[in-house]
Amino acid sequence: MPVTAVVGANWGDEGKGKLCDYLAETADIVIRFQGGKNAGHTIINQYGKFALHLVPCGVCHAHTTNLLGPGVAVDVAALLTELAELRERGAPNPHVLVADRAQVVLPWHVELDRLEEARRGAAKFGSTQSGIAPFYADKYLKVGIQVGELFDAGHLRARLEHTLPRINVLREHLYDAAPLCLDRVVEELLALGAKVREMVVDATALLQAALRDGKHLLLEGQLGALRDPDHGIYPYVTSSSPLAGFATVGAGVPAHAIGRVVATVKAYSSCVGAGPFTTELTGPRGDELRERGGDAGEYGATTGRPRRVGWFDAVATRYGCAVQGATEMAVTLLDVLGYLDELPVCTAYEVDGRRVDDFPATAVLERARPRYETLPGWKCDISGARSFGELPPAAQSYVRAIEAAVGVPVRWVSNGPRREQLIRLT
Ligand code: GDP
Repeated sequence: MPVTAVVGANWGDEGKGKLCDYLAETADIVIRFQGGKNAGHTIINQYGKFALHLVPCGVCHAHTTNLLGPGVAVDVAALLTELAELRERGAPNPHVLVADRAQVVLPWHVELDRLEEARRGAAKFGSTQSGIAPFYADKYLKVGIQVGELFDAGHLRARLEHTLPRINVLREHLYDAAPLCLDRVVEELLALGAKVREMVVDATALLQAALRDGKHLLLEGQLGALRDPDHGIYPYVTSSSPLAGFATVGAGVPAHAIGRVVATVKAYSSCVGAGPFTTELTGPRGDELRERGGDAGEYGATTGRPRRVGWFDAVATRYGCAVQGATEMAVTLLDVLGYLDELPVCTAYEVDGRRVDDFPATAVLERARPRYETLPGWKCDISGARSFGELPPAAQSYVRAIEAAVGVPVRWVSNGPRREQLIRLT
């Protein structure tokens, strides 16, 4: 079986968690390959409703190993809290491993994230303040700490003694915050290491062996293609690549092994934080879609922030699927649209009076206006449908219109937040 990646083709919050939870049924290992606890995947299954942040979405299947790959930002305390909650709430056997090459969100990353957002004031990025940007900055400055380094006091001290002076200059002189003490930091990190040690593995060896043994690997992306630092709406992006192609790096599987890329696509658009959002709906119509969206309104699973919402954007989604290398699409949250008489779909942009079909870079995107084609609504509840044929003709046409506009086959339609509300198209 080829390695399968479940990734987002939009701005995130497309319902990847639900799809991963479903597909994990047949997976041996589910792997997060980027990002950290800034993710918010909501899954609803027989054990209840879970907002997972760091833990991969295969965690509710007792047979599944869940791995945080080398590309993940590991907040050890957050990971332990999430696991404890899962156990407490009856998840049968949450089995989570952490790559020894994954790096640790250090105590100052979260604080620097918060302080920097506060310093920027109105120009803030809308960070989830989970420390992700300072974490990746330190990683590429080569001053990050790998999980496998948390077990040796002398080694840790040697790695940190040149790092802390730089952090402390920033803290004291840019942010007016108290300096950190090396001894205390080393002590704190050793304590975290002790707590996570039994979960730490050589992920490369694990995955190579799994591939040799024909095991089924599921790669779980966080956020969506339009948040990719290279291909997304920079600078309104995240700090690691949510593209399936990056899983070769962030998980450590050979590029040729990833044979199936499921691009999760929302039946309408939603976007958290700042940045250009061409099909945004404001006013009462936007408020109504926000309240009706998701499983309980479009509010961030990590932050509770209201999400911006809008009509389906085929230009952005076509691009998102292209950079993801999508082999199939899952169209999610279709049930949400059942209240509408008609459904505008953005099929092209207009920039400076000219039609644009390819998703432009941010500087041009900021001037883009949507061109809509309007499809009829179906005006009924479709959440009970269990086959494509059971959907009303107008809902089927809407899905087919998305498929034609994006140019990727739709293999799944999600018509409710629960695991079983998923239609497989043949
Ligand atoms: P992810 O980050 O891509 O996993 O997405 P989120 O979990 O942040 O957001 C998706 C939201 O929509 C969650 O609240 C899900 O429970 C919910 N959801 C997922 N699929 C569907 C669906 O088909 N219909 C409805 N109504 N809600 C869904």
